[in-house]
Amino acid sequence: MFQSLDFSHERDLTVDDVLRRVESYYPDADFELMRKAYDLAEKSHINQKRSSGEEYIIHPLNVAATLVKLRMDADSIMAGFLHDVVEDCDVTPQEIEREINPSVAGIVVGLTKISKINFKTREEGQAENFRKMVVAMAKDIRVVIVKLADRMHNMRTLQYVSDTKQKKIARETLDIYVPLASRLGINSVKSELEDLCLRFLHPDIYYRLAEKVAMKKSDRDFYIGDTIEVIREKLLDHGMKSEIKGRPKHFYSIYKKMTARDMDFDQIHDILAFRVIVNNITECYKALGIIHSAFTPIPGRFKDYIAIPKVNGYQSLHSMVIGPQAERIEIQIRTDEMDEVAETGVAAHWKYKEGIHSGLTKLDWVEQLLEFNQNVPNNSEFMDVVKNDLDMGGVFIFTPTGDVFELRHGATPLDFAFAVHTEVGSRCVGAKVNGKMVPLRYSLRSGDTVEVLTSKNQTPSKDWLNIVKSPRAKTKIKQYLLKIERDAHKEAGKDILEKVFRTYDTSLKNLEKTGELNKAYQAMNCSNVDEMFINIGSGKSSIEHVIKAVPSLKKKFQEVEVDAEELAKIDQYSQKVSQAARRKSHRDNAVIVDGLDDIVVRIAKCCNPIPGDPIVGYITRGRGITVHTSKCTRMEQGEMTRTVFVEWNPDFSFKHPVNIRVVTHDKPGILSALSKTINSIGVNIRSALAKSLPDRKGSFIFEVEVKDYSELLKTTAAIESREEVISVDRV
Ligand code: MN
Repeated sequence: MFQSLDFSHERDLTVDDVLRRVESYYPDADFELMRKAYDLAEKSHINQKRSSGEEYIIHPLNVAATLVKLRMDADSIMAGFLHDVVEDCDVTPQEIEREINPSVAGIVVGLTKISKINFKTREEGQAENFRKMVVAMAKDIRVVIVKLADRMHNMRTLQYVSDTKQKKIARETLDIYVPLASRLGINSVKSELEDLCLRFLHPDIYYRLAEKVAMKKSDRDFYIGDTIEVIREKLLDHGMKSEIKGRPKHFYSIYKKMTARDMDFDQIHDILAFRVIVNNITECYKALGIIHSAFTPIPGRFKDYIAIPKVNGYQSLHSMVIGPQAERIEIQIRTDEMDEVAETGVAAHWKYKEGIHSGLTKLDWVEQLLEFNQNVPNNSEFMDVVKNDLDMGGVFIFTPTGDVFELRHGATPLDFAFAVHTEVGSRCVGAKVNGKMVPLRYSLRSGDTVEVLTSKNQTPSKDWLNIVKSPRAKTKIKQYLLKIERDAHKEAGKDILEKVFRTYDTSLKNLEKTGELNKAYQAMNCSNVDEMFINIGSGKSSIEHVIKAVPSLKKKFQEVEVDAEELAKIDQYSQKVSQAARRKSHRDNAVIVDGLDDIVVRIAKCCNPIPGDPIVGYITRGRGITVHTSKCTRMEQGEMTRTVFVEWNPDFSFKHPVNIRVVTHDKPGILSALSKTINSIGVNIRSALAKSLPDRKGSFIFEVEVKDYSELLKTTAAIESREEVISVDRV
C-alpha cells in the first residue's frame, strides 16, 4: 500500500555506499569479506555492459542495495554482489566457496538454477517452474529473496530492453514473483513490482493513473497534511503519541479497484491511505476507538489482522472511515514492529542476524508445499495448490472451540471440513453454521462458526468435486475416488480371472501356490499381482494376455480345446466391466452403475439408502443390481465378489421416502406439533404412526420424503430442537 522503501535505480551507487549502509544496522559485519566478494564480482563482470549502456556491476550493486534495505544478512548481500557471476562469467561455485564461504556459494548456485528455468506461458510449464522455485526455497529461503531483489532491479531498468521482452518479463513477474513476494510478506517489494508490471503491461492505464494522481497534487498534499494533524491531535487528547503517514495508494491497487468495480478513476474516491504507528497493541485498539468516534466508520470495512494475522505474518488494524472532507479514507493502525514486518516480511527475521542464529533459513509452508509437490502427480493441480497458497485474500472461519482457519473466498463447509482434517472432510455429512443447518454448498463468510457433522459411514463422492473450492480438498477427494476405482477394478479383475481359471480347472489359489501367478504378473510388466488384477478389471490387459503369461495355461490353451462359449461369455463380461472405467449414462436413474447402461437398478428395502448415504451395488441373479448402504448387514452375507461400484446420480432429483422414529414425552397436541415442525422446513409427510409407551412417553413413526441425506439431517435436527423430544432415529 505504501512505498516507504524506495528501490529506485541508483546509477552512481558504489560499494562504499552499500557497505556504509550495512554498517548502520550491522556494525559487526565482516566488511573485509564483503569487499572481497564485491571485488570478485567487479573483476568478473569487467567489460560487460547492461542494456542501458551502463557498466554491468551497477546491477549487482543495486541488487545488494535492495537487500540492505530489506536488512538481509551479510551472506545474502554478498550473494547479491555475486548473483550473476556463475551464469554470466567463468566463475565456478567452488571458487566462491573457497574465496568467500560455502553459504554464499550455495545461494548463488540456487540463483543460477532458477535463472535456467525456462519460464513458459502455458500453465503446465508454469507449474513446473513453481515446483523448481519451491525446491529452491525449501533449501534456503534467502535464494528467493535475492532473486526478488534481482528481479526488482531488472524491472526498474526494463525500459532499456525490447518491447516484446518488456511484456514477457513483466508478465512473468506478475505471475510468479509478485505472488512470491506477497506470500513471503515483503509488501514493499510486492507493491513496487506490481506498479512496475502495470507500467509495462498496461502503459496507457499506468500513465493515465500517474497523471491523475499527480494532478491536484498540492491540493491533496494539503488535505493529507490536515488529516494527519487532526488524527494526531485526537490521539494526543487521549495522551497517545503516534507517528502518522498518509499518501495515495499504489497504482496497482487503484487499478485493481477500478477493474473490480468496473469504474473509472474519477469514480474511485478512496485512493488515500493513512498509517498510524503507535507504541503497543493496546494503543492500537485504543487509537481505533478514538478514530472511529472522530470519523464515521464505514460498516463492514474493519479488519483485525492483529488478532488474526495473515498467513504471511502481516499484522495491522484496517478500517475505512469518512474523512474530514467527506472522502473515504483507509486507516491502518499498527505498532513499529508490525510495520517492519509488513514492509520486509520474512526478511525481518534476518535483522541483526536472528535468522541465521535461529536457523531460520526454511519456512514451514514451503516444506508443506514441497511435501505436497511429491504427492500430486499432476502439474496443473499442483499449480492450483500453489496459487491458492499464494492467494491470501480469504475468509476467516471459526471452529466451535474458537480455532481459526483461513479459507479462500467462496469456500464451503466441505472445504472447511477438509481444512480441519482429511478424516473430518471425508466423513462430512452436513454442517451447522452459527448453529443452523446449512447445505454443503453454502458459501462461508468471515466470522462464521462452523460445526461439521460427520458419520463414520460417509465417504467422499464425485459430486463433492463440484462443491469444494479449495485445491487441497479437491485433491483429497480425487485421491479417494481414484483408490475406490482401483479397488473396484482390482475386485473385478480378480473375479474375472477366477472365472477364467475355473474353465481351465485351476484357481487363483492353485496358481499362487505353484508360483505361476507371480511369473504371470512379471511377464505382464506389472509391479505386483494387484496391478495385474487392476489392469484386467479396467480392460487395460486382455485375458488372453494373462493366459499366455501362465506357462501351464499357455500349454493347455494351445493343446486342449476349452469351452469356447464359456470363454466368450467371460470376455463379454470383462468388456462390460472394463467399459465401467469411464462411461457414464443413465441420467434418469437415481443411481449410476458405471458402464453398465442396460441394467435394472433397485433400491434395497432392508436399508433403504438415500442420496448421501455410502452405497454398494449387488449383482442379483436376473434382477439386475440392488443398491444397499455399505453398512447394510444383509449385504455382508452375500459374496463380496458380486458387488459393483455404484454412485448417486447428482443430476437426478427425486423424493425418497424415509422412516424416522421420534420418541417424546407425552404431551397433548404433540403429533400435530411435530408434523408442523417437519412441514415448516418444506418436507412432506407421507404417513404418521403414533403409539404410547410406558412412563408417559410417546413413539411416532413418520414416513417423510427427502431429497437426500442432508435434507434428512435437516429434518431430524428440526425435530430434535423441540424440547419434548427424547430421541430421533432413522428406521
Ligand atoms: Mn541479475
